[in-house]
Amino acid sequence: MAKKFDVIVIGAGPAGYHAAIRAAQLGLNTAIVEKWLNAEGKPAYGGTCLNVGCIPSKALLEASHKFVDARDHYADIGVMVDSVTADVPKMIARKEEVVGNLTKGVAGLLKTNGVAMFEGMAKLHAGRQVAFTAHDGSTEDLEADNVIIATGSVPVEIPPSPLTDELIVDSTGALAFQAIPARLGVIGAGIIGLELGSVWSRLGSDVVLLEALENFLPPADRQVSKEAAKLYKKQGMDIRLGTRVTGTEVNGDEVTVMYTDANGDQSETFDKIIVAVGRRPYTEGLLGADSGVDLDERGFIFVDETCLTGAPGVWAVGDVVRGPMLAHKGMEEGIMVAERIAGQLPSVNYDLVPSVIYTHPEIAWVGKTEEQVKADGDEYQVGTFPMAASGRAMANNDTAGFCKVVADKTTDRILGVHIVGNHASEMIAEAVIAMEFEASAEDLGLTMFAHPTLSEGLHEAALAVSGHAIHVANRKRKK
Ligand code: FAD
Ligand code: NAD
Repeated sequence: MAKKFDVIVIGAGPAGYHAAIRAAQLGLNTAIVEKWLNAEGKPAYGGTCLNVGCIPSKALLEASHKFVDARDHYADIGVMVDSVTADVPKMIARKEEVVGNLTKGVAGLLKTNGVAMFEGMAKLHAGRQVAFTAHDGSTEDLEADNVIIATGSVPVEIPPSPLTDELIVDSTGALAFQAIPARLGVIGAGIIGLELGSVWSRLGSDVVLLEALENFLPPADRQVSKEAAKLYKKQGMDIRLGTRVTGTEVNGDEVTVMYTDANGDQSETFDKIIVAVGRRPYTEGLLGADSGVDLDERGFIFVDETCLTGAPGVWAVGDVVRGPMLAHKGMEEGIMVAERIAGQLPSVNYDLVPSVIYTHPEIAWVGKTEEQVKADGDEYQVGTFPMAASGRAMANNDTAGFCKVVADKTTDRILGVHIVGNHASEMIAEAVIAMEFEASAEDLGLTMFAHPTLSEGLHEAALAVSGHAIHVANRKRKK
């Protein structure tokens, strides 16, 4: 006899565990199945995000940023430190401690909320039957009125650079180097390439990023990607666009990458290579032939805007479905589905998913880029404010970047906000809130911001839309 639940969630990454906790809060008898084993072979919750993604990368970004700050910038503000050195094994150990605490925290939350936890692999069959195989090989049949698939994603591998244990690694490997590679090659100058490239560049690696596309950071506003390219270059990251990796050759403890660019065939030798060319949805071993769940042509589980698959009562959320592969997008989908199962009618606003690149300065945006607004044919106005004119940024000795607000010319409604600067990841939330409430640039301009804060940069950019910024010479851009 199958064990019966109201809801079974498959996968305890951010999308899955949010769904399970919300479902339990709503009084649904909920189970979650999670197969992750950590480096010690122990079951771990939190998925990619907590184990090998958002959290460990931010722990290393913060540690490496503090190292550079202490080494290169403390003296500017009168804090004298004799010698600053990086203890990489300690940084990695601290990162693992943070991960351990958080993944245990998620397990605790699931438990406290009364979610039944199954550690092992789930396979979905017709009629929402779930075949569960525990890590010890024992099996159990589960069944539910609703199943939420949240099986996430894994890194894309490319034939010219197959992963090796030590030399050619993916993001997971790059979060665990025990020593600083003198020469680091990164294939792909996307978000992971830039974040992990930054970590190791700050700690002393010579970093070369080989990017296939001719454009740098195509999803970002052009003004943002131009500024970012300039700043990363200044930090020592060598970003080579329009390169095609054709092969790699391991020789002892170094690896040579062969690639072509506008000048023909090239090669370069590194101590480590990180392959960061994107992630793909993960459904291996998940779907029985009779599951009734369809994949699209790129391997994502096919869902409608409410995350319902074609199989009755089967939903899918997070990286395994269309949309940006971001933890917060999956979390909101998980919550939406749990509430829909409980009879409520929430939806996710896919137009307002914030994007953040946690380099220094940080880069964050929400809504449309100026180029997208232009392509839509809408008349618009732009307000920008350089962080160099922010009192708080000056006081902080950290003035790189700008805030930019793009607003509809007729209605003044904010269409997009783009920020390059320290703490952009925090500031973008203000823009998301304003845009959720369909604010105009004037609304933001009429809102009082505490002084002195970096957020005043956003306030000034909103004022600049209509030429009213106080701390810059306004050159109103008419569009
Ligand atoms: P996942 O987190 O991938 O979780 C899926 C879970 O399902 C896994 O635990 C897996 O073991 C389990 N599973 C799969 N199949 C089965 C099965 N059949 N049975 C049982 N369990 C199964 N996003 C951000 O928003 N901000 C960031 O700063 C950020 N940084 C990142 C840094 C790195 C280096 C990486 C790699 C990713 C980063 N991401 C970031 C992306 C983020 O990690 C993902 O978007 C997020 O984890 C997706 O959540 P998910 O729940 O959909 O899937
Ligand atoms: P990405 O899509 O951001 O970047 C991959 C880059 O690799 C692209 O610029 C692409 O053009 C390039 N590329 C693809 N094939 C290539 C090849 N053969 N040679 C050279 N370049 C090639 O993907 P990612 O950086 O791997 O990150 C994966 C996902 O994880 C992203 O979708 C992102 O949303 C998520 N993530 C988010 C954050 C964050 O929110 N801060 C951080 C890390 C990862």
